[in-house]
Amino acid sequence: MPERDIICIGCPMGCSLNVTVENGEVRSVRGNLCNRGVRYAHDEVTAPKRMVTSLIRVGDQGPPLSVRTDKPIDKALIFPCLDAIRQARVNLPVRRGDVVIERVLGTDVNIIATRDLG
Ligand code: SF4
Repeated sequence: MPERDIICIGCPMGCSLNVTVENGEVRSVRGNLCNRGVRYAHDEVTAPKRMVTSLIRVGDQGPPLSVRTDKPIDKALIFPCLDAIRQARVNLPVRRGDVVIERVLGTDVNIIATRDLG
């Protein structure tokens, strides 16, 4: 059976996972120190996701605002997500945690401010 070695990013421990895959399904996971590693391995094999961080323009001037997804987004949508952020603008004031783009790209993921501005 094919095996994959991946690093779990569920916490700073960064466990090295050895994952056995058959027909696109996870059959076994070794190297994890907790069950989150099994979940991560399953997600990474079947539907990999990542958090996205970026900067968004504020009005017509001023320093950009740092933003991030409020949950991981499908890996295949990272660049379209960055494009959506690049094309958007926010108006001040903004508070940390405010949603600046709701349901980006029609997903259930929001883009939120990571700090207060204005
Ligand atoms: S398997 Fe558990 S302990 Fe290891 S990196 Fe993932 S979340 Fe952390």
